[in-house]
Amino acid sequence: MKRLILIILMFLLFLPIGCNNPHEGFKDDDRLKVVTSFYIMYDFTYKIAKDKVQIINLVDSSSDAHDFEFTSKDIILLENADILFYNGLGFEPWIDDIKESLTNKNLKMVNTSEKITPLEGDPHSWLSVINAISQIEVIKDTLIKYDEDNKDFYNENFNSVLNTLNNLHEDYVTTISSFTKKDIVVSHEAFGYLCHEYGLNQIGIYDIYNSDEPDIKRITEIIDFINENKITTIFYEPNINKEKVEFIANQTKTNIEILNPIEGLTKKEIKDNEDYISIMQKNLIALEGALK
Ligand SMILES: [Zn+2]
Repeated sequence: MKRLILIILMFLLFLPIGCNNPHEGFKDDDRLKVVTSFYIMYDFTYKIAKDKVQIINLVDSSSDAHDFEFTSKDIILLENADILFYNGLGFEPWIDDIKESLTNKNLKMVNTSEKITPLEGDPHSWLSVINAISQIEVIKDTLIKYDEDNKDFYNENFNSVLNTLNNLHEDYVTTISSFTKKDIVVSHEAFGYLCHEYGLNQIGIYDIYNSDEPDIKRITEIIDFINENKITTIFYEPNINKEKVEFIANQTKTNIEILNPIEGLTKKEIKDNEDYISIMQKNLIALEGALK
């Protein structure tokens, strides 16, 4: 009996490691083997490459990308890969360690934000649609460089995405310029690039890295800010503990709504075929509801 309990305990102990990275490695075929660091990189790459390359995402879409720690399974995956697309700007603090752990000298590690003007300390570049276009273009150029045979296919997909994203950007510019209010209160201070691009200000309950729990002083500051500026809505993101957000909303009689930094997808979002574009459209509707 003791032995059985021990086996069950050991099984439970090791279970999360197996579940953390569900990827099963690349198939043995001629297509480029591409690894993406987290959901946004996966979505951007898929929009250009579709099934012309093999794409495996490192951070499981439903996990918190800020808390990712790579495992030996990820190293094995990258030893067999041709390209790793990552966001850069510090979003993947593990990138240098992973580089040191690899013997695969043929792996191209591509920083997709290389052409973006950084906002100090903020890695969430993709929340400006203009930055998203720049990052997708880096992905497209890289794919063409290493897989020239599919150049026309990649260019065609890029032009189609570019058209959609230019329209999305125009929607943001036009809609937000009509808002009378410009301040948003958010759970995780991830919207610096969005605010910078479209003329909003964000106040975060949690910081840029979604790490430290807010103390009483911070919560009091947020409550005062909400009352002084007649804020009607507090934004939070899917997959977080809403306790602090709900506490502040109760104290200030404000609504809570989702504003999604798109660091991953919930199971429901995956089921509903959501992507960067559909979620950014929903984000704009949410902003409109709060600020118009
Ligand atoms: Zn974040």
